[in-house]
Amino acid sequence: MCRHLAWLGQPRSLAELVLEPPSSLLVQSWAPRRQRHGTINADGWGVGFWAAGHDGPVRWRSPRPMWADPSFASVAPVLRSGCVVAAVRSATVGMPLEESAVAPFTDGRALVSHNGRVDRAALPAVRDAESTVDSALLAALVFDRGLDALGDVVREVAGRDPAARLNLLAADGARLLATTWGDTLSVLVTPAGTALASEPWDDDPSWSDVPDRHLVEVTPDGVALVPLDPPEPT
Ligand code: GLN
Repeated sequence: MCRHLAWLGQPRSLAELVLEPPSSLLVQSWAPRRQRHGTINADGWGVGFWAAGHDGPVRWRSPRPMWADPSFASVAPVLRSGCVVAAVRSATVGMPLEESAVAPFTDGRALVSHNGRVDRAALPAVRDAESTVDSALLAALVFDRGLDALGDVVREVAGRDPAARLNLLAADGARLLATTWGDTLSVLVTPAGTALASEPWDDDPSWSDVPDRHLVEVTPDGVALVPLDPPEPT
């Protein structure tokens, strides 16, 4: 299981969001506190974000462990954004080890990350997946159906593969969407913005846990939680 996070709010530096907190995504790459599957997340990392003066998200991904990319640590303090998705990867057995298999994935308009695994044979055919990794196929399905269908996609895929773990995280520059289906997710609402993360990046008591099998939507107006049960019949 990988770990991922997203931020929507006032622009913050990528260093503040993913490197500096005491249990940052960087620290979670070797010492996650709540990870249920796998122990370290050393099979790559990625950050996608919206930047002023540019249409669509930009990304920086790497197949190396996050701690092995000192150039990112050097630039991250000056990269600032109000809408960010970041992930560190623990590859599922049998999946490709390559930069294109690392989240976040994009169709040029939105970003999608996936914590979990799914039987690739259970997924409907998709076009334009970035990699053959299960998460890229799932992301391509989400891009095909549209972010508004995120909850329906999770229920449909869970119906086809009952063992699937489907914690998804998506952003379109103006809102965040996430699902819990088999793994952890926490939310932190602050006056400056809202964070979603597989696990809290510090011990701030304001973090709250999202129950399993829920859809979360974050907009500048607030956070909404909707239960996702039951899976769609196949
Ligand atoms: N199945 C995906 C992969 O192989 C995600 C793995 C994970 O969540 N650890 O990259």
